Amino acid sequence: MAMPNSETGAVRGGLFVISGPSGVGKGTVVTKLLESDFGFVRSRSMTTRPRRPLDPNDVKYSFCDRETFMQMAVGGQILEYTEYGGNLYGTITSLLDEDIKAGKNILLELDVNGAVAIKERFPTAVTVCLLPESFEELVRRLRGRGTESEDVISVRLNEARREITHFYDFDYIVINRSGKVDEAAQAVLDIARLDSMRSCRMGDFYSDYIKSICESDAEGQLSIRE
Ligand code: 5GP
Repeated sequence: MAMPNSETGAVRGGLFVISGPSGVGKGTVVTKLLESDFGFVRSRSMTTRPRRPLDPNDVKYSFCDRETFMQMAVGGQILEYTEYGGNLYGTITSLLDEDIKAGKNILLELDVNGAVAIKERFPTAVTVCLLPESFEELVRRLRGRGTESEDVISVRLNEARREITHFYDFDYIVINRSGKVDEAAQAVLDIARLDSMRSCRMGDFYSDYIKSICESDAEGQLSIRE
């Protein structure tokens, strides 16, 4: 039988989707969450986007061409996928399944479509939308990171406008204020800790505990069970 997580008390793992417009700081928040003591693991995606110099090797993405991606999607190896800025991105089914079976707390960094798809497939998943304090701040951050050309930045800003209008599709909204990324990460961590206490996360482990309470008499003496 699966045992409760010593940190959170939950038996079943949780799915936590972090979403938000490009440049809002999802990557930094996710890195902080992975470094926390909560025991998060990151899901892995396939993408046809060209590798950036700062992309960590084989941590967040596996890179492939469009044909391979579509073959995987048709074969069910990709759970959900989206086209973003002319590139395909999709969650790798087998790795997610393994982590779910192992009862892990999984972080998925996805666009709005991905968040909606995961929620449909896993209704108990928690979806969090990170938003900037203003659109100007988003433009400043996107330009400041210097990883995309002006053309790509303009596509991403158009996507950002569309994504921001979908905030009501999410369970939670967290504003990532300039210079306050620790606060945004802490807010997501608080949400995750609360989620660990939901009854749907308890599994069968606590049934013995509940049974023992039901079988105790009025003075609190446990009756002897066979
Ligand atoms: P980037 O090119 O900046 O790494 O990612 C572009 C967008 O694609 C981001 O919003 C990111 O969260 C999203 N994304 C990354 N992987 C996936 C995935 O597997 N599925 C979906 N739906 N979106 C993804």
